[in-house]
Amino acid sequence: MPAITIHNLNKSYINAEGEQTRALDDINLKINEGEFVCIVGPSGCGKSTLLEIVAGLLDHTSGEILIGEDPVHGTSREIGVVFQDASLFPWRTIRKNIAFGMETAKVPKAEQEKRLQHYIDLMGLSGFENKFPSQLSGGMRQRAGIARTLAMDPKVILMDEPFSAVDHLTRCTLQEELIRIHQEEKKTVLFITHDINEAVYLADRVILLTPRPGKIQEEYKINIPHPRSREDEYLVQFATRIMADISRGNREEEKVEYFI
Ligand code: ADP
Repeated sequence: MPAITIHNLNKSYINAEGEQTRALDDINLKINEGEFVCIVGPSGCGKSTLLEIVAGLLDHTSGEILIGEDPVHGTSREIGVVFQDASLFPWRTIRKNIAFGMETAKVPKAEQEKRLQHYIDLMGLSGFENKFPSQLSGGMRQRAGIARTLAMDPKVILMDEPFSAVDHLTRCTLQEELIRIHQEEKKTVLFITHDINEAVYLADRVILLTPRPGKIQEEYKINIPHPRSREDEYLVQFATRIMADISRGNREEEKVEYFI
């Protein structure tokens, strides 16, 4: 059974004047357990809308989303979300931030301690666990945000541009670490990015959305084992092909607008 099923999903936003913005148009997608899927597409095509609907943070207009067999109705502990900003509590240490979700979920103390140690080590946060967020770099804060999500042991992890606020070198390191963690933890990941090179480096499968309203334009299966080299000629070819398909999608969109 797929870990995430998105079936005939449509989303329109309606503003106070009653004007409608069609954001997503009939999205159908199945994501297998343990699969790492990246969603890419031009700005405004509905990537964040899609992620927020799957996270249960935003209502959809029609269609269905399942996590395993269960329909999504609002947020759930089975769904972990990582945004661009780790949004840590400034008054809590890194350790207490990572523990926060487990405390509210009333995870037994001994289990909390076990998971805390595991994820502090896994995310390279040893030695920083008693510091406050303001004492850490953006990259380290994002590691803590990811550790906090992983510590809740969700069935699926949704990530919305999680590395876009950090510098290039940190971003590359975090990408490498995310892949290492994905291989160790075998979680299902749905990852949104506008960075095609990031998508082909990370994903088992890349889904390209058309300009708004977002429809699935193409799917690319990236059958290249990890660890991958960023210079791998197949990865470079995939990235070039996706860029060409985005340009084609944009041109078709312009044609449609021209003939209306
Ligand atoms: P992306 O993440 O791909 O940049 P978004 O999902 O943020 O795209 O937005 C998709 C489209 O929906 C955009 O055209 C955006 O302007 C529109 N949109 C997003 N949020 C709202 C909202 N709250 N009200 C009206 N339109 C919105």
